[in-house]
Amino acid sequence: MHYSNKEIKEFTEADTIAELPNKVSTINNFEKLQDVEIPNHQKDMIYSDDLVHRKFLDYGFWEKIPYFKNVSKEEFMDTKYQNQNSATKVDHLDELLEDLVSQEFLNDVRKGMEQTPMNLRLSPYILSLINWDDPYNDPLRIQFIPVASTSLEDHPKLSLDSLHEQADSPTSGLVHRYFDKALFLPLDVCPVYCRFCTRSYAIGSDTDLVTKYSFKPVPKKWNEAFAYIASRPEIEDIVVSGGDAYMLTPARLKQIGELLLDIPHVRRIRFATKGPAVMPMKILVDKEWTKAIIDIVELGRKMGKEVVIHTHFNSPNEITAITNEAMTYLFKQGVTVRNQSVLIRGVNDNVEDMTHLIRKLSYMNVQPYYVYQHDMVKGVEALRTKVADSVELELAVRGITAGFNTPLFVTDAPGGGGKRDLHSYDYYNQTTGISVYRSPSVDEDKVYLYFDPIDLLPEEGQKLWQDRNKHQEMIQEALIKSGNKELNPAI
Ligand SMILES: *Cc1c(COP(=O)(O)O)cnc(C)c1O
Ligand code: SF4
Repeated sequence: MHYSNKEIKEFTEADTIAELPNKVSTINNFEKLQDVEIPNHQKDMIYSDDLVHRKFLDYGFWEKIPYFKNVSKEEFMDTKYQNQNSATKVDHLDELLEDLVSQEFLNDVRKGMEQTPMNLRLSPYILSLINWDDPYNDPLRIQFIPVASTSLEDHPKLSLDSLHEQADSPTSGLVHRYFDKALFLPLDVCPVYCRFCTRSYAIGSDTDLVTKYSFKPVPKKWNEAFAYIASRPEIEDIVVSGGDAYMLTPARLKQIGELLLDIPHVRRIRFATKGPAVMPMKILVDKEWTKAIIDIVELGRKMGKEVVIHTHFNSPNEITAITNEAMTYLFKQGVTVRNQSVLIRGVNDNVEDMTHLIRKLSYMNVQPYYVYQHDMVKGVEALRTKVADSVELELAVRGITAGFNTPLFVTDAPGGGGKRDLHSYDYYNQTTGISVYRSPSVDEDKVYLYFDPIDLLPEEGQKLWQDRNKHQEMIQEALIKSGNKELNPAI
């Protein structure tokens, strides 16, 4: 097929217009190409318009929410406004949404709140991106707002701290599991609360279901964690998580960054925050906070050390023109942002949405790093996928874009095995839903088991789990077939 230069120009028009204003050079090399004859296309032409990942929902999207109808751009972009108007009670939702949402739905949420390990906290930004015509199927509603009607009974093998983080914690707020990296948790609050949070045992305040373990994240206690890190020469890599680095004041952020950079053997720091996905405007308007991050990144670079942001987008629906602007700003300031997603049923467990997410992130120069198999945490059984489906998704995604922008699909092995390639199980029984992993770098005497959600198993498997006497038998069988019967299961 041969296309004329005029046609080609039309195909790519959208991009030339979008990209020119940011260009440093005044010479328009692109224009010059218009006179060159185009080689035959061996592939069908793709229209710019069809590349959905380059379309970003524009400012003003909040106006469809009754309460935000007359809120100006300036006001909506203010983080104080976002924080003050975050919905933390079902009644807030009622007030903010008026008749966008039915009383049946709100009652369903009220009931859902009685069974959830996480409290409600929803920024106006996220609230405005939910499709309230169909809240049950909306990927953002699913992540942040529990409903009773779709909840499922927990798998009998679920636990609250499924990663056994407390077992690898030398002092509160520090997890040292792997050889050269440690996880520092300076705080236990977040700008929103996710229903599926791995650390639902500690993050946010108590719910009807869970009394939270407090690792008492006060600055006074941080010094113990720093002293431990300084005393362990093998630690090169620190993940500052929580909780969420978005909630740290600029001064605290700088304090933590500078202290860690001062420890000679610390070479890499990652600040983990879900912020860009749920309140991206902060990057653009909270100049002090953003400057603190940029300053630490620059200080690190001068010292030959890497400081980056790790964020947590799960759905392309979380990404708007504000996000694009914020991520582009960070990129231009030399801040690397990587992304860790959680694979969630109904949110991103299909090829189309996962592909869209990966392409959109890549387009904003946010590097897709991990996709996590959903942890075995309580109260969110309906959000988990089975390993077979996740592996199929992984297979479909590999190859859609550059390798360095293709996320690794991992399972954080229950019982403290750490991250394992999702498809690296020694054995997997699709009837019982049991997969068996080894993690020699963490503990070579143990095996780690993951259990598929029971409702997705074939009928035979569902029946087996109904009989308590069969549980141990199924696990034993899996251990023998995996060739690891001499090793001990972690849970
Ligand atoms: C995830 C995690 C890390 C970081 O692991 P990477 O695979 O390097 O991203 C460090 N410590 C703990 C306890 C973790 O769970
Ligand atoms: S932002 Fe992260 S730490 Fe906070 S509730 Fe969500 S998953 Fe948990």
